[in-house]
Amino acid sequence: MIITIILIYVLNVFSTQISVKQNNKAKVELEIQQKKNMETEVIKKSESEWKAQLSPMAYMVLRQNATEAPFSGEFFKNDDKGTYYCAACNNKLFSSDTKFDSGCGWPSFYDLIDAANVNLVKDTTLGMIRTEIRCKKCDGHLGHVFDDGPKPTGLRYCINSAALDFEKK
Ligand SMILES: [Zn+2]
Repeated sequence: MIITIILIYVLNVFSTQISVKQNNKAKVELEIQQKKNMETEVIKKSESEWKAQLSPMAYMVLRQNATEAPFSGEFFKNDDKGTYYCAACNNKLFSSDTKFDSGCGWPSFYDLIDAANVNLVKDTTLGMIRTEIRCKKCDGHLGHVFDDGPKPTGLRYCINSAALDFEKK
């Protein structure tokens, strides 16, 4: 009888340990999955939420594909060292190290911090064939990329100031 009780006790302890282990494993797997989701996170908000969050100009550019008037934006003349982020979702986009004076009236960069942070989309509006740049995280319209930029890329990422936030180094 005693042996049976001991045996049941031992089996209980043993099975509890297994289930704790399984719970831990499930927890770790959940954490990995959550991390993955964060890495590929795409922000989806309603238009009224974006409207409430963004300035009127940023809303027109980022959500309605508008282009700000040349030489009107906050950053085309900005020579400060630092980092440019998407004004809607804080996605890291450009470094001041790749900014150059293109004379076009919009902030111009010859490279992205990480090409994986944007989507390039063929844009045939206004009777032109252009390549549009959209933020990968929030799908906001940023500007266009042209192939008349300086070395080493030969590209000119022509970006609306209103679509950017700047953090000075
Ligand atoms: Zn964004």
